[in-house]
Amino acid sequence: MSETQRLIVTVPGGRYDVFLGRGILDGLGAEVRKRSRAVRCALVTDDVVGPLLAKKVEASLRAGGFEPSTFTVKHGEASKSWAEAGRLLEEFSEAGLGRDSLVVALGGGVVGDLAGFAAATYLRGVPVVQVPTTLLGQADSAIGGKTGVDLPRGKNLAGVFWQPMLVFADVACLDTLPEREWRSGLAEVAKSAILAGEDAFAALERDAEALKRRGLGVVSDAVLMAAGLKCRVVTGDLHETDLRESLNYGHTLAHALERELGYGTVSHGAAVADGIRFAARLAVSVGLASEAWASRQERLLDSFGLARIEGACDPHALLSAMGSDKKARCGRVRFVLSRAPGSWKVDEVDEETLARELAMWCETGGNS
Ligand code: NAD
Repeated sequence: MSETQRLIVTVPGGRYDVFLGRGILDGLGAEVRKRSRAVRCALVTDDVVGPLLAKKVEASLRAGGFEPSTFTVKHGEASKSWAEAGRLLEEFSEAGLGRDSLVVALGGGVVGDLAGFAAATYLRGVPVVQVPTTLLGQADSAIGGKTGVDLPRGKNLAGVFWQPMLVFADVACLDTLPEREWRSGLAEVAKSAILAGEDAFAALERDAEALKRRGLGVVSDAVLMAAGLKCRVVTGDLHETDLRESLNYGHTLAHALERELGYGTVSHGAAVADGIRFAARLAVSVGLASEAWASRQERLLDSFGLARIEGACDPHALLSAMGSDKKARCGRVRFVLSRAPGSWKVDEVDEETLARELAMWCETGGNS
């Protein structure tokens, strides 16, 4: 990808653009201006991203004729809370933001989900522009309109669909991303390629080493591939049914692992990588996929440096955590299972098979 790419998401009652490119941030204000007559805008960011990028974004918004006010939350998942959303809403109202304002979310998935949720609920909804700054955000979370916060009993338990007016992803922002976050994003990129098909998967296999080192061209190509898949999926399936559920590939075990190990103990991406490995093995064990396809997926994760999470795991605890997953139906656990690149199905897996596979999974843990 050498120049700015424009993808389109079609949603009932409209569509929005997803811009991807390197060094495009200066053009944000002008693009937002083409879509909005607002004057005031709330720039929401976190205390890591703000010092790196807020000035640049404010300047671009001013050049577009907006008056930005910046609101900063602490970095990390803990900010995706009901309390923090309430605090933001109060701050918006204290700053006198009216119905003609808009929200700009500058940061990773945490800021995107939180600011999107605040935008969806402030004055019964003001537009939001998503400016993702993590690999996960650009490849996935900024697109599709899912917003929300965590509740004490679990992640993303409160939220609404609120489609952005624009998604503006500058891959140059990724240069400062810490290694852990980079690798975490790579797990989602691997997931996207598995779902997208042979060409996308083979390209990642070819570029894996360069991607690990954040080689210029390959990063843009990988973001474009993953964001392109997300745009196609959410265009075809706005609310969560089978198509959108495919994006949860690897996430059934991942969510259980995160819950068992404690949120934040391992990165989401590390858990997703384990989840992909497990789902790949499960597909072999139920006769859906070949051993060769499972091994290919594992090798790709290996080459991204996404080794299995170390430490003991308890199959019973994982099984029980899966049963209370938001996506379980009547307590039965549903998995996205991949047959081959680009081919998958969502299915319930019977408890006996799951218990057996989990026991085997834990036995062959990440310490070896
Ligand atoms: P994050 O937002 O917590 O960001 C990770 C860390 O990187 C933070 O400390 C942040 O301050 C820092 N950071 C962000 N951009 C940076 C940059 N350019 N340079 C340096 N540091 C930077 O984490 P994330 O992985 O982006 O997002 C995870 C969240 O996304 C979770 O809450 C998850 O539930 C959510 N999510 C949402 C969707 C969706 O469809 N809405 C999809 C997937 C995940």
